[in-house]
Amino acid sequence: MNALIAVSHDNLEYGETGEPKLELGHVLIRVAGCGICGTDMHVYKGMASTWPTPGIRGHEFAGTVQACAEDVEGFAPGDRVVVQPLLFCGVCRSCVAGRRNLCSDINLIGGEKPGGFAEYAAIPASNLFRIPDTLPLSHAALVEPLATAVHALERNWSPEMESMVIFGAGAQGLMLLQVALFLGIKRVAVTDVVESRLELALELGATRAIHSMKEDALAAALEMNGGAEVDLTVDAAGITSTRQQALACLRPGGTAIFLALGAAPTPVDFMGVVGKELKLTGTQCYTERDFAKAIQYLAHGCVSAEKLISEVPLSEGAQAFRRLAADPGRMIKVVLVP
Ligand SMILES: [Zn+2]
Ligand SMILES: [Zn+2]
Repeated sequence: MNALIAVSHDNLEYGETGEPKLELGHVLIRVAGCGICGTDMHVYKGMASTWPTPGIRGHEFAGTVQACAEDVEGFAPGDRVVVQPLLFCGVCRSCVAGRRNLCSDINLIGGEKPGGFAEYAAIPASNLFRIPDTLPLSHAALVEPLATAVHALERNWSPEMESMVIFGAGAQGLMLLQVALFLGIKRVAVTDVVESRLELALELGATRAIHSMKEDALAAALEMNGGAEVDLTVDAAGITSTRQQALACLRPGGTAIFLALGAAPTPVDFMGVVGKELKLTGTQCYTERDFAKAIQYLAHGCVSAEKLISEVPLSEGAQAFRRLAADPGRMIKVVLVP
């Protein structure tokens, strides 16, 4: 089969490689499309990881069942499925507590294990979710990143929340926006520094799009909310200034969710955190419940996939990574199609 092979962390080559072996408990998937994640880009640009080279990346993918190992029940050739790529240990304290996203021995299909930047992938049957007929395979690559947005919001949202600021209008920011509006948050501002992303945020229903290089993000957020501080913020950018702003524009008792990775240390105004009883919370991946919900969000059109996805042939995957590294603003979610 053909695959995009990471020869080294920043050298991807498209070419022929052996087809994956179908071990017991596994299903062979013909990949329909696999998204490039921010984490893929971080590793490509040199972030330390336990991902082997050579290896096949790609953890946001869906496809069609091609073959099943003899002991697999519940799947048959032709079934349309999406891959939940986290491999949990199942026995650590977090796993036992039902918080498998925090597993202490977690592995990633498309990270430690071969992933979806290939024509075929062999996946444990327990990592597959069937997708409904109303969800096109070409949109299903968004299920995995959307599950992260669903997890972030559903853990921290409450019905009385009316106002929100999302820092960063990349794929996560724009999906958080759509989930927030669906949950009934009335006023949602989105900040970014790329004009086209801000336009898309408005198209998807943002109350206010804030260009944080051209205007004062805090003043603009307050203005959107009638001069008042907001109930909820999410940092989906991962830089010092957005993290600080995510705290600075909260009302007393407000909640800030930190979703984006980013190694830069960030000084925090703890006088404000204490005095305003702010809640600060990190958010990491998703549980299987969030994953199933993300499928429903997409299948019912609560989240639009069409406007976020740009399809690129897998054979041009190396160029796509180079382009994204040089100009991350241009495309929201690149999906590589074998
Ligand atoms: Zn990812
Ligand atoms: Zn575990």
